[in-house]
Amino acid sequence: MALPILMYHAVLPIGATEQVRGTVPLATFREQIGWLARRGYRALTLDEVAAALGGRHDAARGRSVAISFDDGYRCVVEHALPVLEEFGMTAVLFVVTGAVGRTTDWYVPKGGRAFEHADWSELERAAAHGFAIGSHSVGHLSLASASDAAVADELGASKEAIEKRLGACRHFAYPFGSHSDATVAAVQRAGYATACTTEAGLNRRGQPLLRLRRQAVSRTATAGRFRRRAGAWF
Ligand SMILES: [Zn+2]
Repeated sequence: MALPILMYHAVLPIGATEQVRGTVPLATFREQIGWLARRGYRALTLDEVAAALGGRHDAARGRSVAISFDDGYRCVVEHALPVLEEFGMTAVLFVVTGAVGRTTDWYVPKGGRAFEHADWSELERAAAHGFAIGSHSVGHLSLASASDAAVADELGASKEAIEKRLGACRHFAYPFGSHSDATVAAVQRAGYATACTTEAGLNRRGQPLLRLRRQAVSRTATAGRFRRRAGAWF
């Protein structure tokens, strides 16, 4: 068993050749998800991923994948989730709780466009449609270089904000992928079941659940490139 967890950021209805940092064009996204669906891939929840890596879920038999979106952008709720629903797939959105309903600039190149984050009512709608909402911290800090107190607060306050509005929050994604042994221990203490890094690779049985690997799907992942990479996963 080798489980890929796909990592997306933004999905926008831009031209297939237009280059926007962190953004996969909607038409390309639809081709990628459609291809996975036609090949019989099933999208697992991170709870199912955790069970599979612990040997308690029989994901090995099917073609399984998990799909994640970092940062919680409005365009994902608006454009990507309907495509996933159309193909019967689920995903997790890792939300920066301090940025909900706002526009942020940590991911924008000079002169580029700022991304809008989904607001709570949009996230509620996504959750009502069966998508999981995980935490991506409060303020998108690099946790490996933050103080113990700041790390505990980022982990705890974001979980609490999500749970107040949307129910249990069991999954975390490290902002910028930044983590250390101390961060991982703090994530465990805060009560998360899984945490996603940005380290590339597949997840095999026994992979530490607070150090899950992901496959970044970049803006240049045309449908053909995506298929070639996906072909190497199994
Ligand atoms: Zn992020």
